Amino acid sequence: MQFDHILIRYGELALKGKNQKKFVEKLQQNIRHKLMEFPDVRVKRTQGRMFVLLNGHDPHAIIEKCKHVFGIHSFSLAIKVENELEEIKSAALYALQNAENVNTFKVSVKRINKGFPNRSQELNQLLGGHLLANTENITVDVHRPDVEVKVEIRQEATYITSSVVRGAGGLPVGTSDKTLLLLSGGIDSPVAGYLAMKRGVEIEAIHFHSPPFTNDRAKQKVFDLAEKLTSYGSKIKIHLVPFTKLQQRIFQETPDGYGMTVMRRMMLRISEQVCRKEGILSLTTGENLGQVASQTMTSMNTINEVTNYPIIRPLITMDKDEIIEISKAIDTFDISIRPYEDCCTIFVPKAPKTKPKRDRVNYYESTYNYDELLKEAIEGIEVVTITDQKKVEDAFEGLF
Ligand code: ATP
Ligand code: MG
Repeated sequence: MQFDHILIRYGELALKGKNQKKFVEKLQQNIRHKLMEFPDVRVKRTQGRMFVLLNGHDPHAIIEKCKHVFGIHSFSLAIKVENELEEIKSAALYALQNAENVNTFKVSVKRINKGFPNRSQELNQLLGGHLLANTENITVDVHRPDVEVKVEIRQEATYITSSVVRGAGGLPVGTSDKTLLLLSGGIDSPVAGYLAMKRGVEIEAIHFHSPPFTNDRAKQKVFDLAEKLTSYGSKIKIHLVPFTKLQQRIFQETPDGYGMTVMRRMMLRISEQVCRKEGILSLTTGENLGQVASQTMTSMNTINEVTNYPIIRPLITMDKDEIIEISKAIDTFDISIRPYEDCCTIFVPKAPKTKPKRDRVNYYESTYNYDELLKEAIEGIEVVTITDQKKVEDAFEGLF
């Protein structure tokens, strides 16, 4: 006997009413995609649950992969047996004996198949008695057991589990359209991308770079961050915008610490153009209220003036230590703190305005015609696709 299945519970999806079918199908598709490298694994659905048939593959490698799939509430190693009492008894015993650190247990039977002759309560007692009789130094605790042996009697078979692993939660990626993530090399924006994905949103990324002031290692940092994010979804397309000329011009033309405000507005204008071309409906940033000059309420109001696309800001109310905690958990922190220059840190004036006003910035932008430089930046966009199989496909693609 052995654990030959992984039982997958998808909690929140059950609440989604009419959309449920779409969500469950997407989840199944995402799990299949994630487990592609295990050729004999099968992912099946039955009412309210999903199962991975291991077909001889190592369950631990598969569990590690499943931990990155949004939409999974929890999962358990499971044994599948016929709906037959003696088989259920031996499987329950196997499940208990293979659980770790057990001093106390309880049995919980769910009889979804009402045709099964014994009732749940009766089975709890029957199985509990069998386990007690065949183990030593283990007792029953119905309130706070170390291990709960769960027995689900379904139409087609019975599944028995004895441990529960927490899943990533959230919604399956691909069930909430797409966003364009403004991805810098910093700590915040990858975390923002991760949180958007957690709500089922697919992402493309846009990165502004300023060669030769920023180098290839800075670009590589962005690719590496994106690669970490792919492990929660699939491939990510990155739009690399050559920003040097526009940025230099902005800081030449703009007085009074307003350069950064103009620069951010240009980033949004370019991002919106990319959205239009790609059919993307929103932008996502790593902005966080009060963190730096560009992220005061006044500043956000002024920067936001140039687009009416929704801007998703998953980190807006978080504390920095909460953000860092997530970035460590998703393994982007060590990449983010690599010391390479980012386009913003190079040109940023010593004292950027913390309360830049709309009328002032509109005036400064009107003293120079940026149309040509904007067009050039957009035409120079290079698209790189990062896949979750560690490959980078280069595709150069002019926008217009
Ligand atoms: P991060 O850690 O994400 O860099 P930050 O705290 O450094 O954020 P800012 O530098 O003010 O904050 O940037 C705010 C947001 O603007 C970033 O989270 C990111 O979404 C976007 N952004 C900044 N620089 C770039 C860039 N070079 N390319 C793309 N997006 C950028
Ligand atoms: Mg930054």
